[in-house]
Amino acid sequence: MVAALLLDFILIFVKIEVMITAQQLREKYTTFFASKGHQIIDGASLIPENDPSVLFTTAGMHPLVPFLLGSKHPSGNKLTSCQRCIRTGDIEEVGDDTHLTFFEMLGNWSLGDYFKDDAIEYSWEFLTSPKWLNINPQKIGITVFAGDQDASVDEESVNKWLSLGVPQHKIAYLPKENNWWGPAGQTGPCGPDTEMFYYVGDGLPSENSNPGNDESNWVEIWNDVFMQYSKEADGSYFALAQKNVDTGMGLERTLAVINGYQTIYETDVVKPIYDLVYSLAQDKSNLKAIRIITDHLRAATFIIGDERGVIPSNTDQGYVVRRLIRSAIRRGREVGIVNSFIPAIAAETIKLYAPTYNCLKQNQQKILSEFSIEEEKFKKVLDRGEEIIQEYARQGSIDGVTAFKLYSTYGFPLEEIQRSNIQVDAEQFFAELKKHQELSRQGAEQKFKGGLADNSEMVTKLHTATHLLHAALRKVLGEHIAQKGSNITSERLRFDFSHPIKLTTDELTKVEKLVNEAIQQKLAVSWQELSVEKAKEQGALGLFNQKYGELVKVYTVGKDDRIFSREICGGPHVANTGELGHFSILKEEASSAGVRRIKSILK
Ligand code: ATP
Ligand code: MG
Repeated sequence: MVAALLLDFILIFVKIEVMITAQQLREKYTTFFASKGHQIIDGASLIPENDPSVLFTTAGMHPLVPFLLGSKHPSGNKLTSCQRCIRTGDIEEVGDDTHLTFFEMLGNWSLGDYFKDDAIEYSWEFLTSPKWLNINPQKIGITVFAGDQDASVDEESVNKWLSLGVPQHKIAYLPKENNWWGPAGQTGPCGPDTEMFYYVGDGLPSENSNPGNDESNWVEIWNDVFMQYSKEADGSYFALAQKNVDTGMGLERTLAVINGYQTIYETDVVKPIYDLVYSLAQDKSNLKAIRIITDHLRAATFIIGDERGVIPSNTDQGYVVRRLIRSAIRRGREVGIVNSFIPAIAAETIKLYAPTYNCLKQNQQKILSEFSIEEEKFKKVLDRGEEIIQEYARQGSIDGVTAFKLYSTYGFPLEEIQRSNIQVDAEQFFAELKKHQELSRQGAEQKFKGGLADNSEMVTKLHTATHLLHAALRKVLGEHIAQKGSNITSERLRFDFSHPIKLTTDELTKVEKLVNEAIQQKLAVSWQELSVEKAKEQGALGLFNQKYGELVKVYTVGKDDRIFSREICGGPHVANTGELGHFSILKEEASSAGVRRIKSILK
């Protein structure tokens, strides 16, 4: 008995000793890459500077885009960092074992220095060497680019992995959708990537299990991207002289796997927050809600507490942070937390991260007071909703339209209304939900995108006309035309685009004619939600900084073999170009060096 206790004690002790903390992992990573000649650089703000196309920094490479495109980095051509990231595109996934809205990404970059051989060797050494993470190589699986009509199979990566001892059956060959990055724009650098996965199934993976054929048992922890091609305007690819490496390793996921945890919620940068939420919850069986509350409030703390922090509002990042906080409060009610609780969660998050992220400490008061204000505001909304429910409770029933309003305006889920012993017309509720889904999706997307504040009919028409103009300019002047800016009022559209010289009268007439033809042809305008990769494959114009699998909305004018324009855009647009009337260009002028500006109207 005593011996058994002693053994337990030793085991616990040994276990504690081998646990790696987030801070240790950050240090190990950057120290390892510093030992390979990399400069350690600071992570950037969560709110991107000089990049209105995305709301948040979503990967370590994001602040480095100009350098990956060729500018010289002041710290040299081998860099490493720890970058905080927000991925709103992953919110639906949150609650599972591996996706967080806020996470940290460790990364290393070669700007025209080393390439695949060294990058893969570094990754392997860091993961498996007893001096570093000491992961059992048998638990690592690999994916590589399978090759297609544009680029061949990534044999170089395969051969490197084989030479390091990874068996062939642990390497999965996957298409562009999974193992390809870029280009950031219609043309530019791009290339294959190779990803490292950890086996989370029982014991060791069987002979035929790999991340391609047994997905649920493998978790991606690290991605090495190789920018080796340039995509040209005609759709062809050629090999780049300067090749770059861009890698990203998830801090929380890696911490979880090396410490033998099932989920990221057990890591030392999440657990104290999770534990606090868990302790406050009355209903402790709803672990998903507890996870979501933890995730959302942790992310909101970082967004408000950033050096370039934003507070809850109805636009852009402010809207995201409001959504995160309100959805956490609603989930809180679901698990029986009724009193004020979110400032306490923020305080715990600040305490946990203050040694690493000074901005949280500095902005502590702001974070806590914004959390209180938002909680109070949302409480008022919820209380009003509660009153309405009570009124209907006295009548004993509620129609579907009102139930839907309670859901959409006050955030009451149908089940909650039903629980109040009221008869609810659920069929009508769902009909209403369906009707509003499209509308609210467009509304939300606009909020995410910013920009168009005015949705009047004319603005919508001019917005569609802008797409036609963009496409027509490319047809007349060439595929180097890229949008540099756009501004629409209810009177006119203004469109800035890259072009070195003044347009001739002849060119302007041609552009105008093309747009008017597209209007006369009464082309249908439709949209689809696609991954950035798919959107690119289909030749959609737009900003492609959204890397890494985010969903985007793509608007297409025309169909089948008569597609006039295809562009990533939040909308809204008219349903048919026939609605636009007559398009005419008022003015063409210089906007800045290499950028022209066109003002047009619809009559
Ligand atoms: P997944 O397919 O699992 O969502 P991903 O392909 O989106 O991953 P990358 O975009 O390649 O991941 O990001 C690089 C690394 O960042 C991943 O290998 C992973 O470790 C980590 N990562 C990505 N998204 C998240 C997230 N939402 N939460 C935590 N870590 C993440
Ligand atoms: Mg993802």
